[in-house]
Amino acid sequence: MARRFEEKTLLIASHNPGKVREIAALLAPFEVEVISAAEKGLAEPEETGATFTENALLKARAAASVSGLPALADDSGLEVKALDGQPGIYSARWAGPDKDFNLAMRRIEDELSKLDTPSRAARFICSLALAWPDDAADGTKAAETFEGVVEGKLVWPPRGDKGFGYDPVFIPKGHNITFGEMEGAEKHAISHRADAFRKLVANCFDPRS
Ligand code: IMP
Repeated sequence: MARRFEEKTLLIASHNPGKVREIAALLAPFEVEVISAAEKGLAEPEETGATFTENALLKARAAASVSGLPALADDSGLEVKALDGQPGIYSARWAGPDKDFNLAMRRIEDELSKLDTPSRAARFICSLALAWPDDAADGTKAAETFEGVVEGKLVWPPRGDKGFGYDPVFIPKGHNITFGEMEGAEKHAISHRADAFRKLVANCFDPRS
């Protein structure tokens, strides 16, 4: 059985304001006090894992052990089928040191244009890891991890400025607008992060009254 979150304060182990905003919105019904790694002045650990889950665990454990608080980390990215799943865990890195996602979206389009009749299928993946500080100290109890996915396709040129990252080029299956054109609430209902959250919440959180 998964360990339940019973504390008051949860540290969001992310320096990405777009992610912190979405996670805070998804946790709103649980009356959890949310603080971000940036507010705490925590350094960002190097993402040396080979999978989304390994990277999420690495970030959650590092933040929990430094802060003494339970910490939730998200590692996510876009997998493009015709590019063998790239940029995948390198999604943030494709945007370069200036975090320029116009550059990253353009790079995907350039790579696709080199292929004969490439599929435009893509999906977002989100791995969430919840780690407690005592995990790091005694090393005995595993942190909890959950993975979510949303399938869709890529469009060009980018559309909409409501989201972040690759949102302007991604249309989720069953829709005809990009995540960049969707209101936050609509994206939160169907996103990879929402899918992973449903699993996290069902296993680790009790509604507070
Ligand atoms: P990381 O998890 O911090 O390594 O960064 C993942 C990167 O994937 C982000 O910087 C975004 O570029 C991209 N990404 C993850 N989730 C989303 C999303 O919901 N919309 C758009 N881009 C996303």
